[in-house]
Amino acid sequence: MRYDDSPPPPESAASVSPDPPWYARRSTLAVAVAALAPTALAGWVLTQVLTGSGPGGQPPQPKALPASHTAGAGAGDAKSSTTTPSPAAPASASTSASAPAPAAPAKGPLAGRTVVIDPGHNTGNFKHTSEIDRQVDIGTNHKECDTTGTTTNSGYMEAEFTLDVSRRTRTLLESKGAKVVFTHDADRPWGPCIDERARIGNEAKADAVVSVHADGVSAGNRGFHIILPATVKGGAADTSKIVGPSRDLGERIAGNFARSTGSAPANYLGSGTGLVVRDDLGGLNLSTRPKVFIECGNMRDAKDAAQLTSPEWRQKAAEGITNGIVGFLGG
Ligand code: ZN
Repeated sequence: MRYDDSPPPPESAASVSPDPPWYARRSTLAVAVAALAPTALAGWVLTQVLTGSGPGGQPPQPKALPASHTAGAGAGDAKSSTTTPSPAAPASASTSASAPAPAAPAKGPLAGRTVVIDPGHNTGNFKHTSEIDRQVDIGTNHKECDTTGTTTNSGYMEAEFTLDVSRRTRTLLESKGAKVVFTHDADRPWGPCIDERARIGNEAKADAVVSVHADGVSAGNRGFHIILPATVKGGAADTSKIVGPSRDLGERIAGNFARSTGSAPANYLGSGTGLVVRDDLGGLNLSTRPKVFIECGNMRDAKDAAQLTSPEWRQKAAEGITNGIVGFLGG
């Protein structure tokens, strides 16, 4: 979902980039995807067998969309800590939120690579509004710790969707040898805050970070888009080193996601490229690792919602995200 209630971000203008758009790389990507297809298919079949398709036991949630549904990006605690990743830091919520890595030695094209997946929001956020409304420092600004996310008109929560797609993506990435770290895995009542989400990626020294979301705008707005970090500098935020690689990551995910799901780039922003640059998201501003957000579709549009609520479609979404990451990492 969108990350604040402010008008459409001025960064949309900044999304007009001199760089060749992702679709201009189609031929190269097609070759890569073709090479990956057998593995991806095998992974898909295995995942279908192993994981089933239900959204998985989440409690009923309010259907109303709160006014503040923002993936706020805060860095409240970042002010007192430093921008230097400190893996040796005392165990904290960020450490406990990270999913354990598989114990077996990794083999595959992504062996030795670390990918952090950030399932947007948390199904418990609706019950912890005071906690998630806390303002945190995102370097360039202050924003809410976290937001509730949106829902479909029938009440399927964005937070359920993001966790399901993230888990499917983890399965696929691990099958290729990657170490996958989650920012949360339904193992905490709310959050984490956006600054902590960023910090988890930084401290993991992630080779790539993807934050999974779905949008919640008016019906008729359809399609997916990738949000890329703008160049920002302020407080703990300095994206100068990740803007370039993050765009590469985002373009590769956009191309693969379109191919895997059959979805089109968003028709309501990004000028049809499926790419948008924003400078107001703490999860991006505070990242020191290549990172993008993906808005997989619009939960408030009936046609998009029909896809987002389909386990089969979510598997395709996970495949698209995975293939984009694999392409970025050269696996
Ligand atoms: Zn969201």
